[in-house]
Amino acid sequence: MSSNTLQSFLTENLQDLKDRGLYNEIDPLESANGPVIRIQGKELINLSSNNYLGLATDERLKAVAKEAIDRYGVGAGAVRTINGTLDIHVKLEETIAKFKGTEAAISYQSGFNCNMAAISAVMDKNDAILSDELNHASIIDGCRLSKAKIIRFNHSDMDDLRKKAKEAKESGNYKKLMVITDGVFSMDGDIAKLPEIVEIANEFDLMVYVDDAHGSGVLGKGAGTVKHFGLQNEVDFQIGTLSKAIGVVGGYVAGKRELIDWLKVRSRPFLFSTAVTPADAAAATKAIELLMESTELNDRLWENGNYLKKGLQQLGYDIGQSETPITPCIIGDEKLTQTFSKRLYEEGVYAKSIVFPTVPRGTGRVRNMPTASHTKEMLDQALSIYEKVGKELGVIS
Ligand SMILES: *Cc1c(COP(=O)(O)O)cnc(C)c1O
Repeated sequence: MSSNTLQSFLTENLQDLKDRGLYNEIDPLESANGPVIRIQGKELINLSSNNYLGLATDERLKAVAKEAIDRYGVGAGAVRTINGTLDIHVKLEETIAKFKGTEAAISYQSGFNCNMAAISAVMDKNDAILSDELNHASIIDGCRLSKAKIIRFNHSDMDDLRKKAKEAKESGNYKKLMVITDGVFSMDGDIAKLPEIVEIANEFDLMVYVDDAHGSGVLGKGAGTVKHFGLQNEVDFQIGTLSKAIGVVGGYVAGKRELIDWLKVRSRPFLFSTAVTPADAAAATKAIELLMESTELNDRLWENGNYLKKGLQQLGYDIGQSETPITPCIIGDEKLTQTFSKRLYEEGVYAKSIVFPTVPRGTGRVRNMPTASHTKEMLDQALSIYEKVGKELGVIS
């Protein structure tokens, strides 16, 4: 049965997005999401994936995933609490805890789900959450789901956080307080000021929650932003994804044993949604083991990131304030940014434009995600395309 209300809602709103240039067309890949990708028969240097360490196509991960399928099949068969917990899910969680330096860990189907799960398992309408204004969408949704009061603070502005934490504490209106931040902010590549956040948290009795989706595998020799600052004992919740540097799919919360025990009985995506497949669990475990054994991939990621950054800067690009391999090229004007990205594509570089409302108006950028698996030749080729397109469009001289 077709509804006229739905029909007119969709037609009007889709057209509106298209008119405003905000309708995103998706380009399916005809290849793996490696350093070079194929789209519509065209080979492109890929500077858009979150596959930081190249693990999504690693032969060692593929081998253990295939073995896991042969032994356990393709699905876990039930939610974790019925009988869908396989021994390899437990091994994955033990490996994550070791990697993160915490007492325990719990895995979820995605990083997004972690934020749906963990925030509302602990916070409720009597509580308040101090949240960085640039936090990821899944944190925002997770906070809303909890029904706690959400108090946004200016991005990485520690004076603003301190002021708002003090107000919240002294108001006496809230039972529990929490501060939530991304570990690494994915649009600019800047790192959360965790030492100051922890200090403020200690002063005003805030729980500390760090979503390190872009920091894990990247900072702290791979162990993440919390390890980078040596704050494993000060951060209550360490959230991560298994889909970015780890190269597979899934997410986790790492922390004290009792927190993890609580999440196993109270977090809804754990209780009511089936876990990642055996192949995912085996591959993610292998990836983390590789990161604990050697920093080779992490070293190469940073080397490539620094190489690309230096090259773009020498060409005259504004690469912003990144402290990680994430390298934005800030173009400014939204239309120009989109044209720039399109010209890069035509010349053989896949780097996505990011514009308002994802980033502030007038700060449109093309974001580059170099990885450990890019070769110097690929990066040099990308740089020469950047030079050509930049001069052509008058972005550099
Ligand atoms: C990417 C990202 C997520 C989502 O992770 P998935 O595993 O892809 O669901 C969550 N939080 C942050 C900060 C992210 O950058």
